[in-house]
Amino acid sequence: MSFTLFSDTRLALARDSLAGLSVGDALGSQFFVPGRHPADLAAGKLPPPPWEWTDDTEMACSVVAALADAGRIDRDALAAAFAERCEPYRGYGPGAVTILRLIRTGTPWPVAAASAFDGQGSCGNGAAMRVGPLGAWFADSTTRAAAQARASAEVTHAHPEGIAGAVAVAVAAALATRARLDGYRPAPDRLLAAVAALLDPGSEVHRGVRRAVELLGRPLPAVVDALGNGSRVTAQDTVAFTLWVAAVHLDDYPAAIRACVEAGGDVDTTAAIAGAVVAAHTGVGTPGGVPSEWLAAREPLPDWLD
Ligand SMILES: [Mg+2]
Repeated sequence: MSFTLFSDTRLALARDSLAGLSVGDALGSQFFVPGRHPADLAAGKLPPPPWEWTDDTEMACSVVAALADAGRIDRDALAAAFAERCEPYRGYGPGAVTILRLIRTGTPWPVAAASAFDGQGSCGNGAAMRVGPLGAWFADSTTRAAAQARASAEVTHAHPEGIAGAVAVAVAAALATRARLDGYRPAPDRLLAAVAALLDPGSEVHRGVRRAVELLGRPLPAVVDALGNGSRVTAQDTVAFTLWVAAVHLDDYPAAIRACVEAGGDVDTTAAIAGAVVAAHTGVGTPGGVPSEWLAAREPLPDWLD
């Protein structure tokens, strides 16, 4: 089926994904507060609001604002927006703070991004954690979603794995959104295989997504053992796991977030990524979607977004 997406529809789809991303980020980060236990969430007990969002949400809001402005990623503008809006207390990693400070003080982003980690570039999750809404925006073309995800990644992540992580998440979100528009729920193996097909076959992220297909039906601890849970804060040990969660729970947002919380690791980021993909499919306040109560508990998004 081919169709035309008008920009207000694209924005609405991206905003649903952003809701899922930001609620996952904000709720996930609650589990770094001492005394909070995954079992409470599993039992239906929510942490007291407000749930503050972190760097994942701040950067994702810049991606959505850039698309709302221009309809595409302008790398120079996006790099400047990330740098200007960075509030370091939002949980940015030291590498990200350094890159963004360099950009803010006039270093061109290709130089700043390439300088990270002794010249290898970052393979962290920064590019993947902010990109789900971009995939929803480009729901009509996975090729375009992949190319625009790459552009959005490059301004901070020069390492091929960091870029592959962003491409994987954006393609998953595009496919999830497309299926929502077409009115069906993709089978987990088909969704993951379609994501893998658009990745560089030499990348570890690609291998991880292929492996995730083999792990469908396995219990969560076995999946974490095989794919990671973000505790190494690299795309290689995060993205395939989050896409396994999203593929399995694509029609049940709360279940996806509970799985990320139960898995431990870098929970705000895993819940942000999986939440962005799932909410792109379910929407907000719908059966299986982002619960309105959860959205209300999340700190409001930044004023500059509207
Ligand atoms: Mg974070």
